[in-house]
Amino acid sequence: MCDSSPFSIRTHNGTITVNNPATGNYRMFRVRTQAEKAQFAAGERVVSVKDSSTDENWRAFGFVNDDGKVVVWKKFRGTVYDVYGRMLSNPVPFVEKGAVYQWEARCRVCNKELTTPESIETGIGPVCAKRRPKRQPMSHGRQMRQAALVI
Ligand SMILES: [Zn+2]
Repeated sequence: MCDSSPFSIRTHNGTITVNNPATGNYRMFRVRTQAEKAQFAAGERVVSVKDSSTDENWRAFGFVNDDGKVVVWKKFRGTVYDVYGRMLSNPVPFVEKGAVYQWEARCRVCNKELTTPESIETGIGPVCAKRRPKRQPMSHGRQMRQAALVI
């Protein structure tokens, strides 16, 4: 876990833990890019949740769009999964209510751990960065950094 690194689901894959210190409950989220050869949703970024109270396994429930918004799959809409989507798309109101976010950033292309400062900043590892044209850096990362300062 690295709390000072910039992290945004718009630009970064990885694991996000959202903890409620008041209740001791926590939920873990994971954003991963499906392999280009995957049978399901090849190349898409899929978000999964592991709920400490109810579930032992990762449960995929939506996609992460290019703008950093979580699109909850139809069968999960109108349920707690909508809240999970908002927790990831817009953490600030949850942080204001006392939620604590921690994350471990991974490459948004290949899901490997990010180790160099530049890759931690951009969300893409050096090997994958060479293979792909650079994308514009994000503003949502700044929002997450502010959230990190609050907690
Ligand atoms: Zn990579």
